[in-house]
Amino acid sequence: MIRNMKSSSKLDFNELSNNVISRRLCVDCGACVAACPSNVLVYEQGTKLVGECKNCGICTRVCPRYKSLVTEMENFVFGRQRKIEEDFGIFKQVLVARSTNEDILRKSQDGGVVTTLLISALESGLINGAITSRVDPTNPWLPLPSVATTPDELIANAGTRYSPSPGLIALKDCLKAGLDKIAFVGTPCQILAIRRIQKFLPKYAKSLVFTIGLFCAENFSYNGLMISKIQNELGINLNDIKKTNIKGKFLIYLKTGEVQEISLKEAKKFVIPSCQYCGDFSAELADISCGGVGLDGWTYTIIRTDEGSKVFDNAVKGGMLRVESPGESPTKLLVKMSKGKRSRANRLSKDS
Ligand SMILES: Cc1cc2nc3c(=O)[nH]c(=O)nc-3n(C[C@H](O)[C@H](O)[C@H](O)COP(=O)(O)OP(=O)(O)OC[C@H]3O[C@@H](n4cnc5c(N)ncnc54)[C@H](O)[C@@H]3O)c2cc1C
Repeated sequence: MIRNMKSSSKLDFNELSNNVISRRLCVDCGACVAACPSNVLVYEQGTKLVGECKNCGICTRVCPRYKSLVTEMENFVFGRQRKIEEDFGIFKQVLVARSTNEDILRKSQDGGVVTTLLISALESGLINGAITSRVDPTNPWLPLPSVATTPDELIANAGTRYSPSPGLIALKDCLKAGLDKIAFVGTPCQILAIRRIQKFLPKYAKSLVFTIGLFCAENFSYNGLMISKIQNELGINLNDIKKTNIKGKFLIYLKTGEVQEISLKEAKKFVIPSCQYCGDFSAELADISCGGVGLDGWTYTIIRTDEGSKVFDNAVKGGMLRVESPGESPTKLLVKMSKGKRSRANRLSKDS
């Protein structure tokens, strides 16, 4: 995907700008902003240089789209490379689960597993905060990073917003707030970014206890999908939307009970360009990965690491989750989505 990159570790922001941002490969994760030791990068609908770059090259080390480093990162997280037959990455256990808390279920996207795991970890002292995503109070459905430190905040942040939330920039907020045990929730590209920070700049991620990755076929431009299409073209007031979901179509559930839909073909016009270069559907580097994959009210859950098992078992022991074996069909869909996304990314990388 990126050719002729400089080999020196002393790279400047131009290297990132020319190879990632200008080529529309940026995923809006905010990792470069979070990691810049000179604090000369800011995130304002994209990364901007606002001071003198000291050529440290750290922004390129943490960017999930600057060199792929998949094997290196698998070795870092799991101590080995993914085998070819491990279609959706290395894992210890797969299951489907659902929260036992009605408040969580009312607000969550699928089975509320993500929010339940975070609350359970918070209440048992495994963490004292979590980087999740909230909605901008002045721009409905615009996701913003959020450092949640209470169960109420975690419940308020539950549900899915299908636009990028630059979660990595909240790492600095956690440090400032003195949080020393945090969880991080994000899409596969964001999980890759935080793993790169963990590997290349460990002091910035020393408070990270575990990560929860969200399955992701693709992400959508907020201005394109939510503003141009849904608000301006369909005439839907974004404040009237209760939930959006993708089940073969882009579904818009209104607070009135009415459901409007956009064909997936139409919605895909607003996909973030960099998503087509991403080969990771199920957040293969996370401690736990969660997705809906066609389920109704349950979350497909992949436990990948010992830390993930500890967090999940803690919630089950506390009676906070109902757990079942996944049926054949969601696993088949997971395999299909994973293979499809990986092969599209490989193909495009070779072509570019
Ligand atoms: C952009 C995006 C695309 C997705 N695509 C798929 C898909 O193709 N197939 C599939 O099976 N599942 C997909 N998911 C995952 C799915 O929507 C649910 O997040 C997952 O099933 C967990 O459900 P839950 O009820 O357990 O989570 P909940 O308990 O509802 O918690 C969800 C968590 O996600 C956080 N969050 C919400 N929006 C964002 C965002 N934009 N960026 C980062 N964090 C966010 C919330 O703050 C909350 O912490 C996608 C999620 C996102 C954010």
